[in-house]
Amino acid sequence: MRRTGYVFTQRYLLHDPGAWHPERPDRLKAIHRALEEGDLLELLVLLKPGDAPLKWVERLHTPDYVKRFQQACEQGRQTFMAADCGICRDSYQTALLAVGGVMLAVEAVMGGQVDNAFCAVRPPGHHAERDRAMGFCFFNNVALGAVYALEHFGLARVAIIDWDVHHGNGTQHLFEADPRVFYVSLHEDPRYCYPGTGYRREEGKGPGQGFTLNLPFPPHSNDRDYLTVLEKEALPRLTQFAPQFVFISAGFDAHANDPLAHMNLSREGYREMGRLLLELAQETAGGRLVTVLEGGYNLEVLEECVEDHVRLLLGIPYDHF
Ligand SMILES: [Zn+2]
Repeated sequence: MRRTGYVFTQRYLLHDPGAWHPERPDRLKAIHRALEEGDLLELLVLLKPGDAPLKWVERLHTPDYVKRFQQACEQGRQTFMAADCGICRDSYQTALLAVGGVMLAVEAVMGGQVDNAFCAVRPPGHHAERDRAMGFCFFNNVALGAVYALEHFGLARVAIIDWDVHHGNGTQHLFEADPRVFYVSLHEDPRYCYPGTGYRREEGKGPGQGFTLNLPFPPHSNDRDYLTVLEKEALPRLTQFAPQFVFISAGFDAHANDPLAHMNLSREGYREMGRLLLELAQETAGGRLVTVLEGGYNLEVLEECVEDHVRLLLGIPYDHF
């Protein structure tokens, strides 16, 4: 068994993007309940997050953007910058707490308190740009975690593998000129799916050229399509890059039963992708891996896939699933 951290607090439920919004507090309630009912909670090391220091948030987001987001929440506005970015008075604090959660996970892994961690955070982050909220995202949680690993802990190379069905435009743009971060995204073809970026030809810029790998899939792709590309194309490149820390930007919205996109992954496909990435982390990063929740809007899918993933992180063999 490995020691696995679990970042969660009831305060993550406070961000309310509005009635009928798919990115709802129930998502985390469902995950937490599944871990409890699967008798996994007592095996996990609960990591209780605090607010991320502004100094770190502003390492990737402009101070002006951070301020405007804070003010919009304080003024009781209903959306911020985009129609799908619903907010309430608690959204700013909750977003700071989500970043703080990922930073805490990085700290716990780097300090050897845990081997790896799962961050059940919201709001999600991978669409958040330097100065723009998009696609339910405000601060880029996983990107800030990566910067923290690099700059606070002095690492030289980290990898972010993003299997959310939507392209992580924010994460790509924040690191596209940075060769310290290898960003790999598996997502639905941008011609058919939000946010419309993530073509293969987007490979990074300047010194970061070659450190972005976009792997778009046509609608209705399945486990075999994803796993083949992950094994044949992404993993060789990742192994060669030899990350010292692996982040998974984990959206579970490529599942066949997710209501937002058009992909056909199953619970087993997600489990297998997790297994391969854990193997990568063990090969090159001493097992250091932090998984950060992104999308996933079918509660049953979230429950099953997160439970499987947490069992993997803990090192519980398949036949005990
Ligand atoms: Zn998504």
